[in-house]
Amino acid sequence: MFSGILIGKDDGGYHAKLQRIDESLLPEGDVLVRVSHSTINYKDALAITGQGPVVRKFPMVPGVDLVGQVEHSSHTAFKQGDWVLLNGWGVGETHWGGLAQMARLNGDWLIPLPAGFTPQQAMSLGTAGYTAMLCVMALERHGVKPGDGEIVVTGAAGGVGSVAIAILSQLGYAVVAVTGRTDETDYLVGLGAKEVLPRAQFSQPGKPLGKERWAGAVDVVGSHTLANLCATTRYGGVVTACGLAAGMDFPSTVAPFILRGVTLAGIDSVMRPTADRLEAWSRLAMDLDLKQLGTIGREVPLTEVIPLATELLQGRVKGRIVVDVNR
Ligand code: NAP
Repeated sequence: MFSGILIGKDDGGYHAKLQRIDESLLPEGDVLVRVSHSTINYKDALAITGQGPVVRKFPMVPGVDLVGQVEHSSHTAFKQGDWVLLNGWGVGETHWGGLAQMARLNGDWLIPLPAGFTPQQAMSLGTAGYTAMLCVMALERHGVKPGDGEIVVTGAAGGVGSVAIAILSQLGYAVVAVTGRTDETDYLVGLGAKEVLPRAQFSQPGKPLGKERWAGAVDVVGSHTLANLCATTRYGGVVTACGLAAGMDFPSTVAPFILRGVTLAGIDSVMRPTADRLEAWSRLAMDLDLKQLGTIGREVPLTEVIPLATELLQGRVKGRIVVDVNR
């Protein structure tokens, strides 16, 4: 038996509960992992609260991220005792995930715990941090360089936003943070933002084209914010879109794309090929001041996960939450 969060949907409605689970109930997979740490991402919060259609099979253990040690493996790449990391691949959605003490997984989804990271540090980043790095890599692939101009980061005090600011400023970009929590200005400046703007400036319907400002953008918000970022991105600039914190809609026009050559780069972390994951994690080890993780992340036990999921969706969680599943 092991402890984990189990989400069910039945006559009693949608419910998530921390409980003891029999190991025989674990799903199929060729690697059995004794989980050390997990985390709470936006998607995990949607899954736990049932506020978004994340879970597609019941019962489900949520948790799109985990770090742990291999207990048993019939996969050629891993053996007992190896430390492994998992982000995404539908884990916590269609396959039992990381918010439990044990997980049985497909070894093809795993990568070795990246060199230079403790399990806690890897989960301070988690999918949010790895996605922030994918956004930075997309800006680079489309030619945005430090010195080209300002990079705007939305949802700045959240997980993806916090890590994106820390990476971009470490790389020498001029970062402008957009937040609904301007009282967190000291935190955002501490991460490396040179200016902090209120989210309300971006969240209302705007013109198809506005004054050109941004060389690049990292957007976790979607909806009017994403449309307004595209409309105010400079000629040839790049907007990376990875989130929907304000909505799935994208009420824009083609004007920024056909008149200013703006690129809108979509970022998915879940099904990303392994080569990109390895590159993103090795870049995180190189390009992030790991001391910042102490500011960005805080650790909680499994017992605090369910109430924190609601707080996270209310935008009241700063940075990242690391879950020690054995505490
Ligand atoms: P998070 O820690 O909860 O951060 C989200 C932030 O968005 C909040 O802290 C808040 O920042 C801002 N926000 C919340 N509600 C908002 C609203 N109604 N309007 C405008 N801003 C709002 O979540 P996260 O883990 O960073 O994830 C952020 C988004 O990225 C989510 O939509 C998530 O699903 C998505 N995501 C996508 C991928 C992918 O593969 N594409 C991977 C990871 C995450 P402020 O208080 O600073 O404004």
